[in-house]
Amino acid sequence: MPEEQEIETFAFQAEIAQLMSLIINTFYSNKEIFLRELISNSSDALDKIRYESLTDPSKLGEQKDLYIRIIPNKDEKTLTIIDTGIGMTKADMINNLGTIAKSGTKAFMEALQAGADISMIGQFGVGFYSGYLVADKVTVHSKHNDDEQYIWESSAGGSFTIRPDTGEQLGRGTKIILHLKEDQIEYGEERRIKEIVKKHSQFIAYPIKLMVQKEREKEISDDEEETAADDDKEKDGEEKKETDEAKIEDVDEEKEKKSKKKTIKEKYNDEEELNKTKPLWMRNPDEISQEEYGEFYKSLTNDWDEHLAVKHFSVEGQLEFRALLFIPKRAPFDLFENKKQKNNIKLYVRRVFIMENCEELIPEYLNFIKGVVDSEDLPLNISREMLQQNKILKVIRKNLVKKCLELFEELNDDKEQFKKFYEQFSKNIKLGIHEDTTNRKKLADLLRYHTSSSGDELCSLKDYVSRMKENQKHIYFITGESRDIVAHSAFVERVCKRGYEVIYMVDPIDEYCVQQLKEYDGKTLVSVTKEGLELPEDEAEKKKLEEDKKRFEDLCKAMKDILDKKVEKVLVSNRLVSSPCCIVTSQYGWSANMERIMKAQALRDSSTMGYMAAKKNLEINPDHPVVEKLRQKVEIDKNDKSVKDLVNLLFETALLCSGFGLEDPQTHASRIYRMIKLGLGIDEDDTVVDDGGDVIDEPTVPDSQAQAADVSRMEEVD
Ligand code: ADP
Ligand code: MG
Repeated sequence: MPEEQEIETFAFQAEIAQLMSLIINTFYSNKEIFLRELISNSSDALDKIRYESLTDPSKLGEQKDLYIRIIPNKDEKTLTIIDTGIGMTKADMINNLGTIAKSGTKAFMEALQAGADISMIGQFGVGFYSGYLVADKVTVHSKHNDDEQYIWESSAGGSFTIRPDTGEQLGRGTKIILHLKEDQIEYGEERRIKEIVKKHSQFIAYPIKLMVQKEREKEISDDEEETAADDDKEKDGEEKKETDEAKIEDVDEEKEKKSKKKTIKEKYNDEEELNKTKPLWMRNPDEISQEEYGEFYKSLTNDWDEHLAVKHFSVEGQLEFRALLFIPKRAPFDLFENKKQKNNIKLYVRRVFIMENCEELIPEYLNFIKGVVDSEDLPLNISREMLQQNKILKVIRKNLVKKCLELFEELNDDKEQFKKFYEQFSKNIKLGIHEDTTNRKKLADLLRYHTSSSGDELCSLKDYVSRMKENQKHIYFITGESRDIVAHSAFVERVCKRGYEVIYMVDPIDEYCVQQLKEYDGKTLVSVTKEGLELPEDEAEKKKLEEDKKRFEDLCKAMKDILDKKVEKVLVSNRLVSSPCCIVTSQYGWSANMERIMKAQALRDSSTMGYMAAKKNLEINPDHPVVEKLRQKVEIDKNDKSVKDLVNLLFETALLCSGFGLEDPQTHASRIYRMIKLGLGIDEDDTVVDDGGDVIDEPTVPDSQAQAADVSRMEEVD
């Protein structure tokens, strides 16, 4: 027993403590998944030491056998799981088992509240705590190469202890003892454990050995009886495999002293390997059922649900490998979380596990694909550093991408399946279009959008092209915040009026995607919100536009003078129907939507916003009565006092309608209030002035300085 002072007590991090009491107190019947979680942790730990030993075999030390052993003990009501994995140092235990919460801790509790199932725990990276589904106390003994052996222990309740372990030494690895709750002792039963391991862990790549207690008849002579009984006790205590040799001896003995013998029951320990299945990827696909793929997928990924689709194939020739690729049904909660280690493609070399999450095997946009690759050609002692240069790996990667795309295409045959896939992973497809030049065309075929004429259905670019008008040369699209907003925008209005279809791109990533896509099936993608949109038009229309341009020349000039640097140009447009004006952005600058996205990005550097911000043109509708009236006003008196206010109002309203934010909503509001007063016939001088301050008037600073002055002006107002 260690001295009192050697025992250190730690408080669980608050969220972890919360999670633990949730696990302990929630009524939940499918408790068996705890074993899957602990075995999966052991398997991970074994993977880690195996990987280290590839480059430095001495790391294995005395403990060369890599296995998981399960020992039920009915008398003590415990279930013990031992692995010869990498083990944990004292610091590892303190950090990983209680004081540092992962993002999944909170996410999992939220998911539970939203109706998720406890069995999903593994996906959130907190599987260890599932032990408390069946145990009221958990004891973890662990030995890592870099430290002494320590014991972690907790009966929940907000704290755990750490103490040095001077007892039986593990050599290396981890031993977890679950002290089973009174009503959970079924998990100490051999039959039950076998059932659970078969169900959840049959594809674990290390032997899972179950220590079972067996009984056999033994004949002994009267005088031997006493000593034999003593022997039994000793044997029970030991956890040794009975050898065949011993059995043969028994038989010999039997023959010799037959007459003098009497039968007693003898207990002995035996070990049984529970997962002797051949690796699934080595088997013939024709002989594998969907259930088997499902079970394999679940054990590979910790997913509680089966996969959406699978591709099982082998490549032969100058290079040889086998692979199993799965598409999950759902995107993980943290799919695009930065640089999180992901458990995606596991790399094997000739059946030996090399590493998980082999980044070189698959491009980032396919990071949702799970699977296994088993190469015949790579060297066994390959390290992460070597992988980056490796030619074989590059070829494997190319093939994997090709097969993934094939798989997506196959999904397309089943509309429902494809819909499920697209709902979860459209962002990845779009990211792929941005990143993967070689496969851009194929990926573009997978895109689906709502359009001005698709109704509630999503349609492909191919569908769009098949519906294009005879004189239509381009594919029209609009990017924006939501389907509703873009559907009602002035930009779409004109294009639709002419009978052309507009694609609605309302996912932030569409902005990036479309920048790279540029064209589809030989047809340029044209944004209806950008400058230079030319719709096919007849001679009469062209002529009218020319005339309008002349007629509104003075107005355009006056408006540009008023708005000054806020806009690049003021132009007459033939793309508007019911709106008086709209803001278009220059061909190569940001769109309104892009500006919105960039502003929303938390860490943006505000200095870049200045020159990167969208270059705006104001387009006016020559057929709109407001514009016509304004033209007349300017014609009569260029310096009409109300013109300045009206032009600014029109501009600001157009900004809002075109998807931009207002730099200075206060000034806009005060203009609107002035208009309201005008409408109600209230005299400007009737204004109630508070604090004895001045009535806030039109900003008098030149527009070029307006932005910088915004802040100081607000301060003045205060
Ligand atoms: P995850 O396995 O997703 O990381 P868990 O809650 O299951 O989350 O485990 C938490 C951590 O505890 C693991 O990441 C690992 O560092 C450590 N751990 C748990 N079990 C073992 C084990 N048998 N051997 C070594 N480390 C372990
Ligand atoms: Mg785990």
